[in-house]
Amino acid sequence: MVTQKEERAKIERLRHRLIAWYQRNRRDLPWRSRTDPYAIWVSEIMLQQTRVAVVVNRYQAFMARFPTLFSLALAPEQEVLALWSGLGYYRRARMLHKAAQFVATNLQGNLPATSTELRALPGIGAYTAAAIASIAHGEPVAVVDGNVERVLCRLAGWQSDSRAGAAALRRKIEDLAGKLVDPQRSGDFNQALMELGATVCLPRNPLCLVCPVAGGCKTRGEHKTAPRPRMLSREVAHALSVRMGRSSGKAHGAVSREVLLEQRPAFRTVMPGLWELPVLRDSTVPETDLRMTVRHSIMQVNYYVRIRTVFEDDVEAMCEPAGKRRWVPLGEAAGMALTGLTRKVLSRTHLLPTASLDAIAPPQDADVL
Ligand code: SF4
Repeated sequence: MVTQKEERAKIERLRHRLIAWYQRNRRDLPWRSRTDPYAIWVSEIMLQQTRVAVVVNRYQAFMARFPTLFSLALAPEQEVLALWSGLGYYRRARMLHKAAQFVATNLQGNLPATSTELRALPGIGAYTAAAIASIAHGEPVAVVDGNVERVLCRLAGWQSDSRAGAAALRRKIEDLAGKLVDPQRSGDFNQALMELGATVCLPRNPLCLVCPVAGGCKTRGEHKTAPRPRMLSREVAHALSVRMGRSSGKAHGAVSREVLLEQRPAFRTVMPGLWELPVLRDSTVPETDLRMTVRHSIMQVNYYVRIRTVFEDDVEAMCEPAGKRRWVPLGEAAGMALTGLTRKVLSRTHLLPTASLDAIAPPQDADVL
């Protein structure tokens, strides 16, 4: 029978070990150099469902352009989406932008300090509110993301691979997280637990030999993790249509090339308002006409995308009827709110200026958007 005193001592040991480990081993990530709520907010929204390696460059470009909440609030939405390009889940960017405008207009630019008040803002759920409130203001509230959930399940020996009872399990995890969080150093503790899940208590092969809390872990690598949902496959084809510019650059003797883009209608549930290459009516592109194939993942779907060069005169006949189409100078396209796939294709075909790509494009190929 474990007494309350022993239980408290055990929790204290875990907190101490975890925070000490974090201070020695934490990754040097750009958002960790800032402790203001706005910077934490942006990083936490970007990190949702997106890998750290993809977020790093994007975060730096975004914060260079929008260093303050007011600068974000005053920006046009298309510019915000352009800086979000490649991170996917664009609804996050729209909600972040809307919330920044609300805070700028109604709260004199000051983000609320408590997790309860933060949750009232658009796009800020329990996780993000707890992260901002604990890291920026030291509120003793637990942050529970997927990594934390996995670590706590393994520490406690709880199974997470069945759908039945998922809600009850989630409540148990939240209770445990609330008990463990260090009231004196909630920000460090929460970041330490998330870092442990991201770098040591890995989904497939946890590194238990170097885990700072292995002594109190009930499973030590023996815990089953829920299998990943199966990815679906879809085939689509897009037109790559480029012509010599008709409007810009001629005055200086230089003619810039233009690419044909179309804007996804506002009623689309996925990526409304973003610009993409026109969709071909026929996705079965003959080998002889194939410019390139690209695999592109969006949520649970792997898209196998065929890209075909289409001459200007053939666009109407070969492409799906579209809403708003525009010939865009390539220099301008780089700064537009492009879909991740379109940016990928224009990058691989060397149609986007390299400098713009460094600032905006994904650092690696396997971007899951
Ligand atoms: S001992 Fe292993 S399974 Fe347990 S928390 Fe540490 S890394 Fe995860």
